[in-house]
Amino acid sequence: MENKIIGLHHITAVASDAQKNYDFYTKVLGQRLVKKTVNFDDPGTYHFYFGSEVGTPGTIMTFFPWANMKRGVSGAGQPTEIYYSIPVGATDFWINRLGNAGLVSSVVEGKNVLVAEDPDGLKFSLVEVENDARKAWTTDEINESVAIKGFYGIALTVQNGAATKAVLSGLLNYKEQKVEGNTTRFINPNIDTANVVDVIENPEIPYGKLGAGINHHVAFRVKDEETLMKYRALVESAGLPITEKIDRNYFYSLYFREPGGVLFELATDNPGFTADEDIKTLGEALKLPPQYEPQRDRIESVLPKLKQ
Ligand code: ZN
Repeated sequence: MENKIIGLHHITAVASDAQKNYDFYTKVLGQRLVKKTVNFDDPGTYHFYFGSEVGTPGTIMTFFPWANMKRGVSGAGQPTEIYYSIPVGATDFWINRLGNAGLVSSVVEGKNVLVAEDPDGLKFSLVEVENDARKAWTTDEINESVAIKGFYGIALTVQNGAATKAVLSGLLNYKEQKVEGNTTRFINPNIDTANVVDVIENPEIPYGKLGAGINHHVAFRVKDEETLMKYRALVESAGLPITEKIDRNYFYSLYFREPGGVLFELATDNPGFTADEDIKTLGEALKLPPQYEPQRDRIESVLPKLKQ
């Protein structure tokens, strides 16, 4: 793989109830919980990672479930819609399945795209994608002919898109593909999955407010730390403040805010979610980073119990 941005790594959002969040993403959407850890900046809160069997970058949806967190407000400066990839012909299965789970979904006119919200109101769509060769995680109720394969892409909402588009095309290797109404679609040419970013421009929409049902940030994928640091220099030379390299246990990260207000992260493939657990038992035990291990008893007593 090239020393470039290779699509999305993960998307992180806020939830209000750990059990409901776990139940929806694993039981309804059929994703695998690949890591159960804590928010490294707030260890009294879980950090869940849902994805494919090993949590391959480009499949990972992560949540901070803060108990009783109020709903946020979707708006400018946020990733506002998650696009998941499903096999061609799978839309009807998902209309029924989401309906049985008590969720309303709608099909975008003329397109095989199903739009819905998770129990916290987080907007996602299931997009029928041809030739997505990724191996989906399957369950007793969701087989390979309908299972979610990972991300197709993400939509960002901004008041004025010019600077955001310049970051995507000038710094992150995305290519403008088409414009439809106020939405400009960008494609990452270095990979053929999880490679779509839509920039929705709306000068009227107020800035969003973080809370339950809102995406906190979107992470773009690089293969290793050398590539990560190459991008750090590029972002910095474009005049955008960017963090130092941060060790997230399962990847290394940098964060910067693009000029439209969306928090971007760059994250590495290494070391991955099998760094501290066997592939067979991923997600079963509560994993803590070394700095919190001495406080394990207290942390476990504070975290809500989770029925898996
Ligand atoms: Zn992240």
